[in-house]
Amino acid sequence: MKGHLLCPACGTLYPQKEAAWQCSCGSYLDLAYTFTPRPEDFSGPQGFLRYCSVLPLEHPDKAFTFNEGFTPLHLTELLGQKVLVKMDFLLTTGSFKDRGAFVLINKCRELGIRHFVEDSSGNAASSMAAYAAPVGLEAHIYMQAGISSAKTMQASAYGARLYKIPGSREDCARAAEEAAKSSYYAAHTRNPYFLHGTKTVIYEMMEQLGWEVPSALFIPVGCGSQLLGIWLGLQEMKRAGLIDRYPRLMAIQSEHCSPLKDHLEGRDTPHLPKDPILAEGIAIRRPPRLKQILQAVQETGGRTLVVPDNHIMEALKAAAAKGLYIEPTSAAAVAALKQYKAPNVRLSVVVLTGHGLKSKV
Ligand SMILES: [Zn+2]
Repeated sequence: MKGHLLCPACGTLYPQKEAAWQCSCGSYLDLAYTFTPRPEDFSGPQGFLRYCSVLPLEHPDKAFTFNEGFTPLHLTELLGQKVLVKMDFLLTTGSFKDRGAFVLINKCRELGIRHFVEDSSGNAASSMAAYAAPVGLEAHIYMQAGISSAKTMQASAYGARLYKIPGSREDCARAAEEAAKSSYYAAHTRNPYFLHGTKTVIYEMMEQLGWEVPSALFIPVGCGSQLLGIWLGLQEMKRAGLIDRYPRLMAIQSEHCSPLKDHLEGRDTPHLPKDPILAEGIAIRRPPRLKQILQAVQETGGRTLVVPDNHIMEALKAAAAKGLYIEPTSAAAVAALKQYKAPNVRLSVVVLTGHGLKSKV
């Protein structure tokens, strides 16, 4: 139903003008309607707004944009395999999360929201703050104390108000939820508008590939906002007949935090170690949309892969040796190439999600 949000757990509908951010049953919400992509509609300049016909914005003509997007899809060789890399670390704030922030912040403006709460380990905080600043939205960001200071400084520089919460990632999310009782919880971990923003990456990629479906996509997965955005886009394309099959979605996690594998093997994910984690951006013990992520992996014939730190370091160096300065979280996806060799390597794509300049390694 157009203009509504739907609870996938209990089926309750919410008019989107009410700005609900979760169902009364506690579940996240999805859009209650779908989009039908038509390539002839993708005729504008090469940027996020090129895909406005499949974005949940009522007034894309009034949307704030940096005219960003169309990051390079670059053929290179990493760890002995020829692969394409999608260079999303070149977006405005240095991370793919700008795609989600673009739609979510513009949706907040359409809904008349003036301030919002977000909890983030870093990159999402920077993206949300960067898009909020020029349009005068107040960003209240809850972050775990002790996370990479470059990301904290970046969000702060954009004017976001930061709340550093001691304890775990879950403690941080709880503090944000409490604060959201008097604000809007613009959580990249569960907000459907954010996912409809991150889906622009697969539209760009498919246009760059001339609509040839890749064999596999390697995607680092924390809360899954990149993978789920890609999954949304792929389903839209298949329903519209633009593609006849899915690429394998390979969900990559680190050995320190692998809730996807843990869930499949029927165990609880252990608490994170106290020491800093190399791939901190994907260290999310309880991704709210875990079952959706696993469904996407399963329906595309993909895999969940867990990579150790020494492979991430090796991948980081291999990428840098090819001129790609990325953060360890992105290198985790590169590292997975050691474990899985796609049948058609020229059409394997690794999504490079975050810039190396923000990381401490
Ligand atoms: Zn519900």
